Order: sequence, then structure tokens, then C-alpha cells
Amino acid sequence: MHNKLQAKLLLNSTLENLDNYKLSPVPDNYRLWFEYAAGSIDQLNNDIDTMIIQQKAINEAVCQKLFIQHIASHDQRDIDDTRIAIGDMLNVMVGHLKEWDSSSNQFSDKLNECIRKLDNNPSIGEVKEIVTTVTDQARQAHNVNSNIQTTLHNLSDEISTLRQDVNRLGNDALTDSLTQIINRRGYDVALKNATEKATEEGSSCALVVLDIDDFKRINDTFGHQIGDKILKFIASTLGKNVRGNDILARYGGEEFAIILPDTNFEGAMRVAENLRKAVVARQLTTGSNGKVIGRITASFGVSCFRHGEDLDDFFDRVDKLMYTAKQQGKDQVIGDR
Ligand code: GH3
Ligand code: MG
Ligand code: MG
Repeated sequence: MHNKLQAKLLLNSTLENLDNYKLSPVPDNYRLWFEYAAGSIDQLNNDIDTMIIQQKAINEAVCQKLFIQHIASHDQRDIDDTRIAIGDMLNVMVGHLKEWDSSSNQFSDKLNECIRKLDNNPSIGEVKEIVTTVTDQARQAHNVNSNIQTTLHNLSDEISTLRQDVNRLGNDALTDSLTQIINRRGYDVALKNATEKATEEGSSCALVVLDIDDFKRINDTFGHQIGDKILKFIASTLGKNVRGNDILARYGGEEFAIILPDTNFEGAMRVAENLRKAVVARQLTTGSNGKVIGRITASFGVSCFRHGEDLDDFFDRVDKLMYTAKQQGKDQVIGDR
């Protein structure tokens, strides 16, 4: 991506999407839409394109989910690299801005302030704040000054390279390679965010835990590869039957967790029952002329977050409900407020 025109298009597309979907210009959103414009993560583009085609709502919550699923975690090493790279970019920008008219003074003052902060061994939170300031300023500049845009286009080359490095690490860390949904670590991050938001807003956050029934027998009968295909099928079935805000994770082996923000107990029970029916609906075979596998079933537990509760305790409660469903004959949903 060493072509200025292409860089310009990428930046414009990023800013336009933030505008279109009325998203705040926070670093996560900026990164998400920059990566989308650059097309550097196939699965991210597939997911967003599908949402656009199906006219699904794209809002802050959806973007946060996409970010967790497809983009990096914030490990200190990444932050250090990011800090240095952002500092270098800002120095270049300020250098350019100095040559220009007074309308860019305020912009370069802000950027200088950011450079000072970056030199001062900032925390992860402060680096995030700095990136927010830069992207916010860049967004305003995009509207008022076409000269500044030229600098931003050059800058976007470097951002792109930097982000790709960070993304590769983050993707591996948070996504399950078999099913391409978020893994246990991604779930931990997502649940923390969702329950914090629920506490702040006084809203309800539900959790559904499900485990495939008799999966050992399926593996033993049809082989591990068919077992893997079934796991992919279940993940995709679950994904198709939850809303955009909901967060689906592979918690472990054949166990999945679904976080349902802004959802009360009755709503969550309905979702779980729909998922149970969707899983059991398909008669599976091992291939076009293959043997009949039959119907797959799963057992479900459902509950809502109790404000102040430890997050491991929350999971354990719902996991126990899932085991009660197993004990009572499998292929069913057991809930408790
Ligand atoms: P239950 O109805 O009580 O849940 O019985 P189960 O057989 O599903 O449960 P159990 O815990 O005895 O066995 C889980 C099986 O899931 C055993 C393990 O080999 C299989 N499994 C876990 N992860 C994977 C995977 O990634 N791929 C495949 N093919 N199988 C897996
Ligand atoms: Mg099982
Ligand atoms: Mg299990």
C-alpha cells in the first residue's frame, strides 16, 4: 500500500463509515473501519459485508464485538511498539503542519501535546487517549482543511502497517481457529465489558451456556474430522440465530457461551429455546453420499448477571444449570434468574 491515492481512499472510507454509522471516533472504531477499508482481514470484511447485505444494524455494540473478534488484544509489548510508532508519525505530521497556514496551528498544538505525553512513559489508557485525540483531530481536519488531508493520507500508510502487526497477534489470541468465533479469552474480555456496561446502565445482561450432547460418541462413531465439521456447523448455526449485539464464543471443546447484552431472563430463555430448536432441526450426514449422522442436540443453561457478582461465579452458575439439563435428559433448556 505504497500508493498515495490508495492511502487517501482508505482514510476517506474510514472516516465516511464512522460518519455513516454515527460511530464515535474512538481508536477501536477507527482501527476497525481502517482495516475494513484496507481489506487486510478477510473474515472481518466478510462479516461486515454480510451485515450490510442483510441490512443489519451497525452500531457501537456491533463494532465492539467485531473488534474483539477480529482485532488485537492490548498486551504491553504491542502498546510499546504502538507508542513509538505513533510518536514517529506525529513528529512527521507536525513537521508538515508547520509549513502550512495558521488554520492548522491548533491542530499541530494538539499533536505536540500528544508527543509530549508519549515521551512521558504513558500507561495503556493514556496511549488509547492519545490515539483518540489524534483520530478526533484528524477527523475534524478532514472536514476543514484539504492540505491536512494530504498529510493524513501519508500517515495512513504507516498506521496500516502498524495495525497489521498488532492485529495478527490479537487475532490469534482471541479467535478460535476451528470455528472462527471468539475463544475463551475473547469471551473473558467480552463478558467483562458487557457486565461493566450493564452495571453502569442498570441494564440486564444474560448468559447462555450450552454443551453438545453425546459428542464423544459422535467422535467415536464417525471420527474426529467429522466431529470438527459438526463443531463448525454448530458454531455457524448458533451465529445465524443470535442478534448482532450478542457475543458467541467457543468456551472449550464442545461447549459454547453466548453473552446477551440488554436482555432479560425471559428474552434469554426464548433465545436459548430457539437455538436448541435450530441445532436439532438439521438431519446431518457425513457428506453428499455419506452416512446419516442424525440430529445433534445440546443442553442449555440460562441466567442473568447479578450486579457485583464475580464473573467466574456467574459462569459457574450457568454451567451448573446446563448440567442440570443434562441430568434431566439432555436436549433442553434450564434457566434460573
Ligand atoms: P455429554 O452429553 O454429557 O456432554 O457427553 P459428551 O460425550 O458430549 O461429553 P464428554 O465430556 O464425555 O466428551 C466430550 C467430547 O468432545 C470428547 C472430546 O473428544 C470431544 N471434543 C472436544 N473438543 C473437540 C474438538 O475440537 N474436535 C472434536 N472432533 N471433538 C472434540
Ligand atoms: Mg458434551
Ligand atoms: Mg463438555
